[in-house]
Amino acid sequence: MKSLISLGPRQVVFGDWEAPEILPGQVLIEVAACGICGTDLHVYNGMPASWPLPGVRGHEFAGTVIDWADGVDGFQPGDRVVAQPLLYCGCCRFCRSGQTNLCANLVLIGGERPGGFAERAAVPAGALFKLPEKLSLKRAALVETLATSVHAFQQNLSGILRSVAVLGAGAQGLFAVQLVRLAGARLIAVSETLPHRLATAQRLGATHAVNAREDDPVESILALTDGQGVDLVIEAAGKAVTRQQAAQLLRPGGTAVFLALGAEPTPIDFMSLVPRELHLRGTQCYTNADFVLAIELLASGEILSDPLITEMPLEDGAAAFELLASDPGEVIKVILTPKAETSPIA
Ligand SMILES: [Zn+2]
Ligand SMILES: [Zn+2]
Repeated sequence: MKSLISLGPRQVVFGDWEAPEILPGQVLIEVAACGICGTDLHVYNGMPASWPLPGVRGHEFAGTVIDWADGVDGFQPGDRVVAQPLLYCGCCRFCRSGQTNLCANLVLIGGERPGGFAERAAVPAGALFKLPEKLSLKRAALVETLATSVHAFQQNLSGILRSVAVLGAGAQGLFAVQLVRLAGARLIAVSETLPHRLATAQRLGATHAVNAREDDPVESILALTDGQGVDLVIEAAGKAVTRQQAAQLLRPGGTAVFLALGAEPTPIDFMSLVPRELHLRGTQCYTNADFVLAIELLASGEILSDPLITEMPLEDGAAAFELLASDPGEVIKVILTPKAETSPIA
């Protein structure tokens, strides 16, 4: 079957890959749409990962059910589904306590296992979520991304949220802006270097936009809070400089959540962090509950995904990766579609 095959850093090709076998407990999906994740891009750019080479990536995908293994119940051909690609063991202490996102034995479909940059993918039945009619397959490819932001909020939001800074307005940052808008924040300041992303952030609810190429984000955002700092920072860029800004932007007792991965080492000033009781929090993917909520938020239109999406055929996947790695311009999130003629928009 046709797939996008990763060969090494900055090397992907469109070509033939072994069609997936349906193993016990699995369902075979015809992939309609698969997003390129920030993590895919980091690995493409050389971030170390335990993912095999050559390999088929793509963990943000939705499609329709074609077939299933003997003994699997509850599916019909043509069922529209989205995959929750982070497979957990169900047995370790974290799984047993409901923190499946922290499982000691995580395996990613589209990481360790072949994923959705292909015509078809085999997925354990329990990792598939059926889609409400109102949610198109193209939009459903964004469920995984939104679920990551939802998880960050479910873990870190409590009480009244008044002021928030979002650093980086890629897909994660733009979902974060919308979630804090839903949560009722009065001040939502976004810092970003790409003008189109800043404009999109404002369209989706940001109250202030800072172009980090022109202005100092720390100075600009502190000025909006009379120098006090914000309640919550969402760091969605994954760079040393934005992580440091996150710590500098917090009010005493505030929380910074680090959504983006990125291997760059980051010195943090602990002489400022300790006496101000700052909270620096990591966040790891999502649980099934976050996935369910993400599906509902996209289906209801409370969270918009269309302004983020650029659709490209899977065969142009190599060009899509290169575009995102070099100069994304007005492109925010690329959704690759294996079958251009059966456009997943409907
Ligand atoms: Zn992802
Ligand atoms: Zn586990």
